[in-house]
Amino acid sequence: MRADTKVAGGGGWPMPVEPGIGARLSYALHHLLAANFLYRGLGGAVERRPRLYRWFTRVERAGKERLYGCRMCGQCALPATGYTCPMNCPKQLRNGPCGGVAADGMCEVYPRLKCVWVTAFERAEAAGHGGDMDLLQRPVDHREWGRSSWVNYWRGRDDELWTGAGDGRARPALHPRTEPGVR
Ligand code: SF4
Repeated sequence: MRADTKVAGGGGWPMPVEPGIGARLSYALHHLLAANFLYRGLGGAVERRPRLYRWFTRVERAGKERLYGCRMCGQCALPATGYTCPMNCPKQLRNGPCGGVAADGMCEVYPRLKCVWVTAFERAEAAGHGGDMDLLQRPVDHREWGRSSWVNYWRGRDDELWTGAGDGRARPALHPRTEPGVR
């Protein structure tokens, strides 16, 4: 059975979204935005200027909403999920799929749509990143909704966003929330 497809760019309640851009291209684009001291400085400069921060966040929202159905959780999991946004899971599971996924990969809540975590597995595998599916994702910090995940990433707040499942070493951790313009 072919899944009905809800393409990225829609708003409203979370429901499975088919990304509007391929996983391989997404991984390639990530290299252009990979954190370094220049981006860290840019993120800091943006954060110190509330108006610029709002503008920057709007640009991020426009692009990522269209490509991935981004909901602006502010702590982006895309690099570890085959560039499939887990916040479009109706249960917003950060580690999935849930036990309700159908044998044919369809969502329990929207049976005509493919589970976002099945999509994530397929995209990650196809792009040679299947091992990412073993990573354990940190719980969502709900204080970060609406904030720029790019700035958070560049500023190092995503360093413990996911970890090796059961490796007994790394511990996913939350970071203190700070407001734009105060640092
Ligand atoms: S920032 Fe959050 S909501 Fe947006 S694409 Fe990344 S994981 Fe999804």
